[in-house]
Amino acid sequence: MGTLLPLQPFVVVFVLFTSFRGINSSADPHLMSIPKDLYHSSDALLKEIKAMVVRHPDTLAMETMEAGNKGYAAEILVVTYNRQMKSANDKSMCRILLSFGQHGRELITSEVALKLLSVLAEEHNMDPMSSDKVLDNLLIKVVPMENLNGRKLVEAGDLCERRNGRGVDLNRNWGVDWGKKEKDYDPYEENPGTAPFSEPEAQIMRQLAKSFQPHIWVNMHSGMEALFMPYDHKNTTPNGPMSNLMELLLREVNHLHFQDKCLVGSGGGLVGYLAHGTTTDYMYDVAKVPMAFTFEIYGDSEASSKDCFKMFNPIDKGAFDKAVSKWSAALLTVFRLGLSQLSDDGNFTTSADLSKWVPIGGEVIDGSLVGDDKESKMDGLALGLQDMRNYFRLFLLSSVLLMFMFCSRISKSKYRQTNLT
Ligand SMILES: [Zn+2]
Repeated sequence: MGTLLPLQPFVVVFVLFTSFRGINSSADPHLMSIPKDLYHSSDALLKEIKAMVVRHPDTLAMETMEAGNKGYAAEILVVTYNRQMKSANDKSMCRILLSFGQHGRELITSEVALKLLSVLAEEHNMDPMSSDKVLDNLLIKVVPMENLNGRKLVEAGDLCERRNGRGVDLNRNWGVDWGKKEKDYDPYEENPGTAPFSEPEAQIMRQLAKSFQPHIWVNMHSGMEALFMPYDHKNTTPNGPMSNLMELLLREVNHLHFQDKCLVGSGGGLVGYLAHGTTTDYMYDVAKVPMAFTFEIYGDSEASSKDCFKMFNPIDKGAFDKAVSKWSAALLTVFRLGLSQLSDDGNFTTSADLSKWVPIGGEVIDGSLVGDDKESKMDGLALGLQDMRNYFRLFLLSSVLLMFMFCSRISKSKYRQTNLT
């Protein structure tokens, strides 16, 4: 990547790997608690989004997806933006999947989701694209709060909690390179779960990705300011033209919205540690999403490592408003650039056609969950089966060829014999 590593991410990384378990801001007057005048509660935020969808039935729709196992249940609200009300299979549509709030303590990300939706619904007019055709060609699914159960724990005072409602990091529960632990592994931060996709939230998100087959995926986080692309589990970016396009897009977004101040490149290469079992690596490697990103939208590297709210979220109105509007605008630029880069004569390739871009990723481990076996095994085996099918075709072809040569030789020799006699 050739990008130099500034000091700031190291500070953040150090802080990230410090255990925060059990810190309750209400117990320590020096620690920041959630500023209620700036941030919505999870209930209020979801309620506001639902009301917005009801106000705009012409462009917005919503569904709630549910899953659960072993006495633990999760539900995720998914909002769909489709201005032209075109079919999801329409080849002229660019499909975009966005997730916010995968980590409980990163409240600011869900506030960006709310703002972005209000811009798309044209309740806020900050959109420079509304006059052109870009929005007409987008089909966007927004997950405003992926980890509602974890977020509830944060709201109850555990401001350092990033994991889900039963202590699993949802950004370590996916199948690519799952379960590998670095030397400084801290289960209170990065617990990958008992198996890939052991968590209902990850199962829902995978299902969503499989049915929707997005062309662009963005996972919104906070803790620093960065525009990441694969990989997280190794310190390189994928090979091939799509990787170059992704990097080009990120550099342009960085230039247009952040005065080139964000880190740009592979998550694993720039954060300073490798992350295994992440959503973005899976989206790129297995779900074959051509453009898969993780954005880190805010971080206060000077905050005390105990002061989680301050580390991951702006605490004054100026910084809050700036983060929310800047990142909403940046996402709109991602849509515009992605649309122009991925479109081929106005059409978008499906992920099946994208198999030619298969990169060399990490090891894919299958989940083995009750009622989920078949599906997760299909994920892991899909690549191998494709190879086997190709080998089988080759084998059949060569067998037919050999048979043909053999038969023609026999008939020739018979012909020769009959002539000789
Ligand atoms: Zn995060």
